[in-house]
Amino acid sequence: MLSIFVEASCNRYSRDECVDCHVYEPLGNLPRSEWHLPIEDARIMAKNILRVDSLNALAQQEINMTGGEASQNPDIVEIFKIFRTVTPNVCLHTNLDINSDQSKRWLRLVEIMQLGGRIDITLYPVAWKRFQKPLLKKVLRLQKYLLVNVVFENLPDLNSQLGLLLDFFIEEGETHAHVGDLLREYQDKVQNLIKTNPDCNEAVYLKHMGNTGSFARKKEFTFGINLLPAFKVDALGRRTMASTPFPKDNYLIECPAARGSIDIMTVRQNGDMTPCCDVGNLQCQPRFGNLLKDSPEKILEKFTVSSKIMATGIIKNRDNIQNAKSGEWVKEGIPPYCS
Ligand code: SF4
Repeated sequence: MLSIFVEASCNRYSRDECVDCHVYEPLGNLPRSEWHLPIEDARIMAKNILRVDSLNALAQQEINMTGGEASQNPDIVEIFKIFRTVTPNVCLHTNLDINSDQSKRWLRLVEIMQLGGRIDITLYPVAWKRFQKPLLKKVLRLQKYLLVNVVFENLPDLNSQLGLLLDFFIEEGETHAHVGDLLREYQDKVQNLIKTNPDCNEAVYLKHMGNTGSFARKKEFTFGINLLPAFKVDALGRRTMASTPFPKDNYLIECPAARGSIDIMTVRQNGDMTPCCDVGNLQCQPRFGNLLKDSPEKILEKFTVSSKIMATGIIKNRDNIQNAKSGEWVKEGIPPYCS
């Protein structure tokens, strides 16, 4: 998958066309004039994706337009159409925290869904009842797929968020019964863990959740869910070594690039590329080239050089973790939880 940043502002406060918006922290140094990815930059990105085979292969899996809040970009429909010239699989991740179905942000999402794009969401319990839920009902009338990210602080919080989704899909009736079955399976497991081992570590949690699938599929509707432990960020914007729900363990990321395989590439608004889901908050330093400025040859050269730097940094990280130095940054600029 190629995950492309198309917007810096997060739009969590006014829910519509805010002019004084909070800017997603890793993008905080962007001047206001550059908060929206311009149409012309999307054209350059699309052209360059097609010129680099490995990026094109990732794009054929999916281009995911993200941010900040992607629906806040006034040109998002045009940008969607440009990326659709690269691949039929273009989706947009939104907070769906929108005032009403009259909002320009919502109307943009409707246009994208009508053009065949998919909308995915992150569940926000505080915005669920009043803002997300009514619009999600409309989303289900416009598309046959949905991916939901659930970011949880602890097991009771996870249980409660699964409950919101379960109630929602029960209301949808028989056509979505398979989604209810999957959510019930998750919720039963989480509730059991809360009763039997509420302070468990991550390994116990993962074992307990077992091989519960991430998808509920039917011809009429396919649902996918990602359960993501939350983590804190320090004053320098650096992620903690442990997640919030499982504070006793290091919350490690396996770096695919250091192992020589790239499954995902994140492209920032300035064109910089990182080969994982680092949206800037992990502060990984080695770059895999710049999609706006570099030639295909230069991008491939950076792939090779940066993969080697990452592999070296990761060996040092493992050493640090084994020698009670976990959390120390190595000179390669690899976050200390990357393994
Ligand atoms: S080292 Fe970590 S942050 Fe950097 S690309 Fe690999 S997994 Fe991502």
